[in-house]
Parts: sequence; structure tokens; C-alpha cells
Amino acid sequence: MIPSGGGAATEGAAAGGSSSAAGGSSSAAEGRPPPARPGAPRRIAVVPHTHWDREWYEPFQTFRLKLVRLIDGLLDQMERDSSYSHFLLDGQLAVIDDYLEIRPENEGRLRALAAAGRISLGPWYILMDEFLVSGETIVRNLQAGIGRGAAFGGVTGVGYLPDMFGHIAQMPQILTEAGFDQAVVWRGVPSAVDRSAFHWQAPDGSTVRAEYLVAGYGNGAALPEDAKALVRRLDAHLEELGSFLRPGDPLLLMNGSDHLRPQPWLGRVVAEANQIQGEYALRITSLSDYLRDAPGDDLPDWRGELRSGVRSNLLMGVGSNRVDVKQAAHRAEHWIERMAEPLSALFLPRDAWPAAFLGTAWKLLIRNAAHDSVCACSIDEVTDAVLHRYAEARQIGQGLTDQALAAVASSMASPGPVVVNPSARDRGGVVEVVVPGAGEPGPDIQVLSERLGLPGSITLDGTTVLSMLGLIQGARLDTDAYIADVSLAEDDTGLDITLVIGTEPRDGVPVEEIKRELYTRLTARPDTEVRLTLDQPPVRRVLARQADVPGFGWARFAPAALAHPVRVEGDAAGGVTLANGLVTVAVDAADGTFSLDGVPGYGRLVDGGDHGDTYNYSPPRVDSVVASPDSVSVAIGDRGPVRSTVTVTSTFTWPDHVDPATKARVGGHRVEVATTLEVRAEESTVRVRTRFDNPSRDHRLRAHFPLPRPAATSQAECAFTVVERGLTAEGRADEYPTPTFPSRRFVSAGGLTVVHEGLLEYELVDIEPGDSGVGPGDGGPRATALALTLLRSTGMLSRLGMTTRPLPAGPMTPIDGPQLIGPVEVNYALQAGDPDPYQVADEVLAPLAVVASFGGGQRPDRGSSLTVHGAEVSAVRREGGLLEVRVFNPTSTAAAVTIPGRTGWLIDLRGRPVSPFEGGFELRAQGIATFRLDRD
Ligand SMILES: [Zn+2]
Repeated sequence: MIPSGGGAATEGAAAGGSSSAAGGSSSAAEGRPPPARPGAPRRIAVVPHTHWDREWYEPFQTFRLKLVRLIDGLLDQMERDSSYSHFLLDGQLAVIDDYLEIRPENEGRLRALAAAGRISLGPWYILMDEFLVSGETIVRNLQAGIGRGAAFGGVTGVGYLPDMFGHIAQMPQILTEAGFDQAVVWRGVPSAVDRSAFHWQAPDGSTVRAEYLVAGYGNGAALPEDAKALVRRLDAHLEELGSFLRPGDPLLLMNGSDHLRPQPWLGRVVAEANQIQGEYALRITSLSDYLRDAPGDDLPDWRGELRSGVRSNLLMGVGSNRVDVKQAAHRAEHWIERMAEPLSALFLPRDAWPAAFLGTAWKLLIRNAAHDSVCACSIDEVTDAVLHRYAEARQIGQGLTDQALAAVASSMASPGPVVVNPSARDRGGVVEVVVPGAGEPGPDIQVLSERLGLPGSITLDGTTVLSMLGLIQGARLDTDAYIADVSLAEDDTGLDITLVIGTEPRDGVPVEEIKRELYTRLTARPDTEVRLTLDQPPVRRVLARQADVPGFGWARFAPAALAHPVRVEGDAAGGVTLANGLVTVAVDAADGTFSLDGVPGYGRLVDGGDHGDTYNYSPPRVDSVVASPDSVSVAIGDRGPVRSTVTVTSTFTWPDHVDPATKARVGGHRVEVATTLEVRAEESTVRVRTRFDNPSRDHRLRAHFPLPRPAATSQAECAFTVVERGLTAEGRADEYPTPTFPSRRFVSAGGLTVVHEGLLEYELVDIEPGDSGVGPGDGGPRATALALTLLRSTGMLSRLGMTTRPLPAGPMTPIDGPQLIGPVEVNYALQAGDPDPYQVADEVLAPLAVVASFGGGQRPDRGSSLTVHGAEVSAVRREGGLLEVRVFNPTSTAAAVTIPGRTGWLIDLRGRPVSPFEGGFELRAQGIATFRLDRD
């Protein structure tokens, strides 16, 4: 299991590194525990398994060939050999589907072994990364596993989490809500846990017993064929575990590792080992059987996330590896979770719920959640597949969203643009609409483009008119120009065709019918005159602020009066200021940074070397950091009053790559980095878009933001909560504790909130040392800035001899994809003060949608399909025809969740009813709740 240096290292190899560290850390004072008292042999639970990374250093199909061979052999072995009494099929149902797609004829054999309790399945559909996908993806993954497992008699009762790169704070609550009270974990367990099990508590108090795989999920991999050798191995392993096990505690021996096949002699060697000694009682068994009477008293407690590298690799650099994959993940999850699902559930007829499309999209998202997939610590062919799956899921989400918005449009009573709010929060926002009109737009409207009217009539011959009409695709003429109506008239002098041009697509325009009719008449009168009349009013594309759209609701477009219009102003030094009375952003033309409400230095781009790999950042031995541009130019874009923008183009010289011999950054490229700052009317947020063509390898680019107040902690969004973290992390010599942390959509610190689109890694930096001697609780170190990673470029899947991680964490395969040479675009937003970060995230990442209506339906000008107040809404969908909603309370006090006028049932994550409610319910601090409404 120790990395061989030949490229054959595995994630299990990291287990080898970590287990020796665990043994090392518990050296002197913690010798081998005394033998159990005579007559009571120590229970050794041997759990045969394989850990199946579906795709990693080989693509999915290559690994699947091996998977099919493995399961073929496993079925034969288990049917032939009753002493091979159990096998854990890696906690994920995906491997079952992957296998049965090739071997459908073996489903009955799998079902029979599962029904007999000899094969454990699930509970997950995939062994996901917990930090790099949304909370909703984690829940759907568990539900998909449980759902698929039902066909095989049900999933295991253990929340098996063997290889995830750390664990989220809310995992104990997710497990509890799905009926699990046991977890099995390895990576991330902190030094405070000094036993092989602990009570793991979520922020709401939900607690599971967590079995800690101190030496990894491969601590019993590759057991010897010889019974005496097996006993010696047990002796050695118990010595290695030291005081993690109490005298007499049973030992869990995980007999398997990455892609390992079952060992056919296992039943025999276990029986022989039991015969030749009395100290150990070995048994091949399941995790749930072992855990049924595993010790539960006097265990250490741990509350919150598990992100320590003290005994095993946490691999915290995966959050910034392949930023393009993280952005794609964010967009795909956004379009499915926050747009397509809620809008389809609330605005399509009940029987039009697109279950199959959403099922397809969720399967793509869930498969991509695999730790080696979304982490992109994989070869480039794998990452290509991951990006393709995310693109398909996003396409489904965007298409379903358009379909749901079209349903809103066609049901409106009045014509004109209608604004739809996809979030639960009542809110206003800036929208872009196409409206008829010309001339002075008024003080609250910003014109983006204008199309003058083209009324008039031309006389043509019939063939020309026919070919013109043939060019019309459907009823669309151009952007913002659609045929709203067409008519044909005939008199003695000729034929008259009138095209009425509108600004939005309209159903049922008889273009094809008119073309056929024209053809018929021209056949009868081939030489007649055809007069074509275009009736097109002037239109323009405008920006305006729409006020107060109800949550999950709609409102006819009506531009609001602006109390805080945004203005743009240049200064003599070449700088530019955007201000709206709520926020002031001033660009410094000298260095390309900007001030936010008077605090200077935002958006400083800091480029340093990275001689790490896909798993970990590692500065080169001789780093050179580029933090100042060679030149800066500033250009005003939009000038308000609804939206003002300024683009800062900074030219840098970045080194080309890290020289492998000297470990120094060498060479150089000129690179233009264009950053566009945007301020809108009525908002305190500044939106930032940075674009450049990345020319350099082996580097890390971060944007630095001063904190209005120095801070000792950060608060970052994580699945279903906000986690607080300090300035440091736990690590060890084998993995330096780089204090970079993941955040899902936002992170706050020291009076600054950063909302981002898939830029998951941040670090509090520029630490001021504590001023000792000040009163208690005061004077500790404080960060004065936050760094957001925009790009991390490396060229090895894993690497040997890094400054931050000496041993490899995977195969040492050169890969070019993670260098991300080429166009890069990143989006984030900043807000000073202490806003509700969930609200800022909604405004920035889930903007109001606009769709045009021709009226004629029943829907009033304004309303809401569902009101949920008092908690954050994570999901709205249909299950069994009923509306199902998931909410969570990220605050530290109980919340009153109100759903006015509605009744329903709170349900658990398996869909089982828990308790009825009328009009709302109380949700405990940090609680997650799912409910179904009795009727729409
Ligand atoms: Zn793995």
C-alpha cells in the first residue's frame, strides 16, 4: 500500500501513508493494548469489499471492463463457497447499474445474494465528494441509492463514507433524516478524536455513531493465504492502531481497496486462523453486523465538519483544481435545482411534470459527484466526460426552464413582458426586456439597443416572395423580431401579403399555411403582382428595475422609480467611480485595483507558482509572485442609471512554467486580464467578471480583497448550513495544513461577503499577529484580507516530492488539462457590511427571469404559486403528483416556517410521513425539513 513510485499508487496508498503516521503519532505512550482477558478473544470483523472509483486514472469504460470481471468472479465465488459469506459492494448502487448494463442476465443472481444478506449495497448511488457538490445533490444521491437498492431488498443500514476528501458538518443530520444512526468515515477526522469511533454531531444536534477507519478502508486488504501470517498481520495491525482501540474492542478489518478483486481463499484462511489460536475470533461479516454491538460508550464527541489532515490526506487542493469543472457543476446544479425543478413544479400542469428529463439530469449530476469526478483528480479523458455530463444536465435544465416560463407566458391574462421570481424570497431586481417605443426613455430606464420601425410596402414578383418566405425559420426573423401575424389578400390588381413584426415569439402564426396558399394562387395567376407589406413598430431592448416580485411568483413588467440610480464618473487621474448612494466603487488607474466604500485595494490579482498536482497546491521551492501589473487601462461601459460598468485591463508578465530542475518559475508571457465591475441601481453589490487567455503553466492566480474589519474566522456556505472556520488547519508532515477552505456559493469574513459562481476555494490571508497582553479572548491573530482562487494550473494527476505533500496521492501521470491553457472567465460579487449572504447569493446567481406574454389566459398580473417564509428553500419538486419542498434553517435559533394557507406532512428523506402541519411549523436551529403539500 506504500506508493511504489512506479505510477501504480492508489488512493489506498495514501491510506498506507496515513496509517503509518497514525502509528507514529501514537508511538511511545501508546503501545500495544494488553491482550484481552483469557477466554474472551478479541472479535475481528473481516468485511470483504472493493472500493470502486468508476473513473479516475482510467476512463469509466476501461474500469468497467474490470468491474464486470470482478463481479462475474464474485458471483461465482459466493455461489460456490458459502464460507465467503459476505461482500460489501462499495456503498454505491452505480456499480450495480454499470454491471447489469453489460450482464443483465445476472440480475437474478445478484438479487438472490443480496436477499440472503450476503451482498451489501448502498446506501449511496455514488461515493460523492461532499464539499464540491450541492447539498441537494448529496440528498438526491442518497435517495437514488435507496431507491435503486429497493429492487435488491434494500440498502445497508450504515452511512458508509470511505474515501470522501473530508466530510460536511450536516452529514449526521442527512443520515439521521434518512433513518441511519451509523456512519463509517476515514479522511478528515481531527486529532481530538483518539478512538476508533466517535459520536458525530451535526449543527442541529443530530448525532450518529461514526466508526473511524483509522488506517483507511484498506486496513485488511490483500490478506495472506497462510493462517499464521494472517495472525502475525493482526498482531502488527493492532500494534499500529495502539490506543485507538480499547482492550477487548473488536477490530474492523476492511478486506479490500481500490479496484481490488475478492481473495478466493479468504473463507479458508479465516477458518484456519481461528483454529490455530485463541486470542482472536475472526468472522467474515457485514458492516451492519459488526456495528450492531460495537462499543458505543465513552466515545469522544465531535460536532461539525471533518476537515483535518492530521492522520490521512485531506487533499484540500481539489477545490481549486480544474476551475472549469467546478463552474460547470455550479451551472448545471443551478439550472436543475433552482430553475427547472421549482418552475416546472409550480407552473406546469401537474401531469406535465417532466420526471424523465429531470431523472436523466439528476443521474448525470449524481454520477459526476463521484469524488474523483467532480474533484477532477483524474486523467483528461475522464474530465472531458465529466464536463460533457454537466453540459447535458445544464442543457436539460435550461430547456425545461424555458418550457416552464413559456407556460407562465401563455397563461397570463394581460399581454406584455412578465417577470418571474425563481426563488422563495420576495424581491426586486434589474431585468432586461424588449419593449415597443422610441424617443426619450424616461429617468428609470436604460436603453441598450434600438430598432427603428420599418413600415412600408414593396412590390415583387411571386417567385421572390416565395423564396423570401422560405427563408423564414418558423416565425422568427431575427433577434427581437418575430412574425406576429401574416395575412394574404387578393384583388384584380394582385396579391397583398402583410407581415406584422413583433418582439417576441408567438405560437400559431400561419406562415406555412400562407406560403401554401400563395403557391396555389401563384400557380393560377403566375404573372400577377405581389405586394409585400411589413408592419413593424420601433422596439428597444432596455434595462429597468422591477420592484417586489413575490417569491415563487410573477408580476407584469413595470419599471420602478429609481431611488438609487447608478452613475459613472471619470477622474483626472484616469480612474472611474461607480456610485448609487448605497455603494461606491472607485477604480485606481495606477494599479488596477478598486476601492469599495472608501477601502482601497480590492481585486488585486496575485499570481504565484504552483508545483503541486490535482490534489494539493504546492508552491515551488523558488517562487516568484507577480502582484503588480505592467500597465493598466480603464474604460467606461454602461453609464446608468440602471447599470454602470467599467472594465479595467491590466497587463501582467507571468512566468511560463516551473522548471523541474531548478524548481523556479521561468520564462514569461504578457497577459491582458480584463476585469469588468458592475453596479446596479438599488443594490449594494458590486459584480465582477474577470477574463483572460491563460498562457502559463504551474501557477495559481488569486484575487485579494481587504476585510473592512480584521477577522479571526470566516463563515462559508456548505451543504444546508454556514460553517465557521479559523485561520489554520490541521495537518502533518505528509500533508502540510494549507488553510484553504471550500465554500459553496458564498463566504463572509470581517464585514465582507463574496458570492461566486463555482470559485470554491478561499483563504484568509495577510495575518496580523496577535497583540499579546490584551484582555482574555482578545489579541489573537487576525486576517486582514481574503484571497479567492480564480485559477490553479498544474500538470500532474499526482506528484512525488511536493513541498506540501511529499508522497503521491494517486498515479504520477502527466496530464495537460489541469493547466487550463486558454480562455478563462470567472464571476463573483462583493458586498461590504453584514448582509444576509443567502439573499445576496439569490440576487447574484438566480436573477429574475423575463418572458413575453400575448395575454388571453387566466393568470392575474401578479401572484405567487407558493409562499414559504422563515427558512431557506433548497428544493421544490413533485413526488407522486404532490408538491415536495425542502427547507433548512441556517441560523442558531429556531425558526417559524410559514406556508400560508397550506396543509401537508413533514416527511423524512425516505419520503415517510413524520407529522402533519397546517400553515407552517417550527424548524429547529440548523434543522433541515422536507414536506409535502396535500394539494397544489
Ligand atoms: Zn476513491
